[in-house]
Amino acid sequence: MNGEVTCPVCQSTAYAQADYALNRVFYECPVCGRFQLCAHGSTGIDENRLASYLFYHCFSHKGNTEYRYHTLLNKDICDEYRTAFDNGDITHGRPVHMDAEIVGAWYPKTFSERVDHILLYLSEHMAHMGQFISFNYQESLSLMFIDRKENIPKAIPFVDTLEKRRSREDYGNELKYMLNWLSEDSYVEHHFGTTEDTYLKLRLTPKGYSRVDELQKYRASGRNVLVAMKFGDDTKTLREAIREGIRKADYQAVFIDEVQHNEFITPELLKYIRDSKFVVVDLTHQNNGAYFEEGYAMGLGKPVIQLCKKDIKLHFDIAQKNTIMWETEADIPERLCNRIKATID
Ligand SMILES: [Zn+2]
Repeated sequence: MNGEVTCPVCQSTAYAQADYALNRVFYECPVCGRFQLCAHGSTGIDENRLASYLFYHCFSHKGNTEYRYHTLLNKDICDEYRTAFDNGDITHGRPVHMDAEIVGAWYPKTFSERVDHILLYLSEHMAHMGQFISFNYQESLSLMFIDRKENIPKAIPFVDTLEKRRSREDYGNELKYMLNWLSEDSYVEHHFGTTEDTYLKLRLTPKGYSRVDELQKYRASGRNVLVAMKFGDDTKTLREAIREGIRKADYQAVFIDEVQHNEFITPELLKYIRDSKFVVVDLTHQNNGAYFEEGYAMGLGKPVIQLCKKDIKLHFDIAQKNTIMWETEADIPERLCNRIKATID
C-alpha cells in the first residue's frame, strides 16, 4: 500500500506509506494534509466530520519542511514522540493527537457556526483584500462541510464502501445551497471555475470582512460574558452599571443587542452563551428571554450571577439562588465585581 492511493477521507489522489507491524498508515493528501490512521479497524471518528477537520487543520509542506501530522495515537505516545523530536530524533515526526471528542468539539453545531468557520478560513487564507481563492472539487466539499457519506454512524470502518457515498449531484446540490446562503447574506461572492482544479472561486465581500472582524474580536479575548436583561431606554443606566462591574473584574460584557440586530433567541445568541465563561442575568424586569438564557446557561453548567432590584419578587425556582439585590444602579459595579472575583476567578 505504499505510493499513490485514494485518500480514504476525501477521495483525492494521495500518497500513503504503511507500517503493518504497527497497524498504521501515514497519508499525505493535497486536501487533508499529513495524517495517520490505523491500517485496519475503525477510526472511531465520524468520517464526514474528519474530512472537514483535516482540511481546516491541514499540515502540509507549502514550501517548508513539515514534521507535524494528525494521528489517532494516544496522547502519551504523542508526547513521547514530540519530546524525542524536540531533542533531535525526528524518526516519528511531530504527532498531533486527534480523536472523536476533539473532532466533535470542533465541528460546527449549527448552520451559522458553519458559516463562521468558512468566513474565518477565507480571511486567513487570503493574501490580499478582495482576492478570489480557488478550491478544487474535494477542497470545496471539505470547506463547506458537505457530507461525503450518506449516513453518519459513529464509527465507520475504513473499508471503502462505494454504495455509501452520496452521488455527485447530491453533493452539488448541498454545495449550491450553502453558497446561495452565503451569497444571499452578502458575505461572499462566488463563481464556478472551468476545471476540476479551480472548481470554485470565493472571496469575502466588505460585509464578510466586517463579520470576520467581529468574530475575531470576540474570539480573541476569551473573557466575554453574556449579559441577559431587558434592553431599552429605561434600562440604559442599569446596562452601564453592569458593564462597569464586569469591566472592573477584568472581563468584557456582551449585550446581544450590540452584536446582533434583534433580541430574539437565535443560534447565534446560544453560541455567545456557550462561549461565555459565565453569564450575568438581571431579573428586575421579569423578562422571559433573560429567564430562558439563564436556564440555557445553567443547563450547560455555566456559572450564572443573578442580579435583581430590591423588593422585586423573583420566580420561586430561582429565588433560592444567591442573588445580588441592588437598591440603586450605583450599588452594582462594586458588588458585581466582588461577586465575580469571589465565585469565578
Ligand atoms: Zn484527503
